[in-house]
Amino acid sequence: QVPEGQQGPPTGCPGRLLELRGNIRVLCRLRPAGSTPSSLVSLEPGQGGTITTCYRGRQRRFRLDWVFPPDTSQEEVFRQLEPAVLSCLQGYSVCIFTYGQTGTGKTYSMEGPPEDPGIAPRALQLLFQEMGTGGQHHVTLSMVEIYNETVRDLLAPGPPERLVVRQGPAGLGGIQVAGLTHWDVPNLETLHQMLSLGRSSRATAATVMNQHSSRSHALVTLTLQAASPSRVLGTTGTLHLVDLAGSERVWKAGVGSTPQRDPNGAQRLREAQAINRSLLALGGVMAALRARRPHVPFRDSQLTRLLQPALGAGTTAVLLLQISTRPEDLGETVCSLKFAERVGQVELGPAQRHR
Ligand code: ADP
Repeated sequence: QVPEGQQGPPTGCPGRLLELRGNIRVLCRLRPAGSTPSSLVSLEPGQGGTITTCYRGRQRRFRLDWVFPPDTSQEEVFRQLEPAVLSCLQGYSVCIFTYGQTGTGKTYSMEGPPEDPGIAPRALQLLFQEMGTGGQHHVTLSMVEIYNETVRDLLAPGPPERLVVRQGPAGLGGIQVAGLTHWDVPNLETLHQMLSLGRSSRATAATVMNQHSSRSHALVTLTLQAASPSRVLGTTGTLHLVDLAGSERVWKAGVGSTPQRDPNGAQRLREAQAINRSLLALGGVMAALRARRPHVPFRDSQLTRLLQPALGAGTTAVLLLQISTRPEDLGETVCSLKFAERVGQVELGPAQRHR
């Protein structure tokens, strides 16, 4: 609870989505498809927007917190997330994750090309800009990847370290990641250098293991601790940026062929099964949270274990769903929309400030 007399989280300006109610907000961005005809029956963009699909003769209408049509700019997407990002400076925990089929624009939205940056670079720039004018903050960074149910520290000196995730004291969000390195980040420039180091460790691991980044999940966690108690009361805010692996089902990923015909087939099947398991576990966690079950199965996968602090009571979570409008992707699009609709019904409880 926000103590009496203290400011609550920013409530979102008119025309902005995030009132930071305690439930997971679901935003949906459509990938531009050029001149390809859209598979969607109809689209109502904006706040409380809807997407109507017709798949296998069945029409379905999905309502989301916000729908971004294909011509939406990176800036417009970020504008909706700004209040959530800024609330980290007041001691709130915020998690932004991208979900969707490979090729629908998850990386484009999260990272973006250098000339048109996405959510992560914009969020980090905004935070450092605000910290420059506000109180002193101590900022730390950690970065991990989950590939085939193995968690690796992407910022460990030397090759990416294999980590063990354990149940920890409740005060730490319920988990402990033994051996995970946390790096002090004095300024934005250092932060960008560290992120590119992390990305290159991910790429190195990818070459060694014949893996593509869309087959692994990546989690960047930024912790902002106010070091000036008189100004911001010693609060600790956290920003989790989560780039999930492609959500397409095994058969669609082109796996299932025999290792003889495809020398990487067995490897790709293992990858796809690990991804399916972790995304299924994420669905299970969301279902338990939605039904307010006393037991939430966070321990069912490494992904859900690591996301446990980000999906606890009082946190703010935003799912950015990326979808394609290509007719051949319609089955995956409908699956993604069903997942997002269920996630949108999850309540995490009112936003809480962490001390
Ligand atoms: P994913 O990470 O989901 O696999 P990417 O982000 O790599 O997908 O996007 C696939 C391709 O589509 C890339 O070439 C990317 O630049 C392009 N793309 C995706 N979204 C957009 C967009 N909104 N505007 C322009 N290009 C986009």
